[in-house]
Amino acid sequence: MTATVAQLTGARARQTYYWRVRNARTRHRPESAGQAWHIQAGHPGGAYCDLGHELDPASHHAPTLLARSRPTGRRGDEQEFRGGCLACEWEGPVHSGNGFGDGDNEAVQDAHDHCFPGWRRLPPITTVEDRWAVPRSRSRWAQLTAQYPPGWINQCAPVLAWSRYRREAHAPPHAGRPRYELRVTRPPSNLGHHPADQRALF
Ligand SMILES: [Zn+2]
Repeated sequence: MTATVAQLTGARARQTYYWRVRNARTRHRPESAGQAWHIQAGHPGGAYCDLGHELDPASHHAPTLLARSRPTGRRGDEQEFRGGCLACEWEGPVHSGNGFGDGDNEAVQDAHDHCFPGWRRLPPITTVEDRWAVPRSRSRWAQLTAQYPPGWINQCAPVLAWSRYRREAHAPPHAGRPRYELRVTRPPSNLGHHPADQRALF
């Protein structure tokens, strides 16, 4: 399988090949399909994603998440992740992890580095309530997105939100929110505004 897979690059080609294995169109066992790079379920272009599955590539770079499992014998399968793009053949470096914000988060961030360079400087949503409230308020949404580079919102640039805990998994886009919600670490400087929180650290 390795030689064949090596000739395929890019999220769309990987996903097509994965389904060919799953549907027994290749000489590989369908059960082994999970060992081929494929789009993680629920992420753009992947199974269960309700964003749509267009046959033509996106007209702009569009982030998604690739995954595969690696049999490791006694320890069971190991998960690997890398960023992908639905518009071109770019693929990010491989990250291992359990997939609950570990490995998958790094890969999704790589994909955003590819699609939206500088996304880390976008203004974050700072409370859990506002993750829901800001996109539903016309004025607050306009205020937030006014700070985005031109064109980014239409290209489904991410929303940033301060994470609630370490390694909170990034949320993939869906039909109701066609952009990733990336959970970013609250910067230490902001702790200074809340002395009570800071004391709790010691
Ligand atoms: Zn791309």
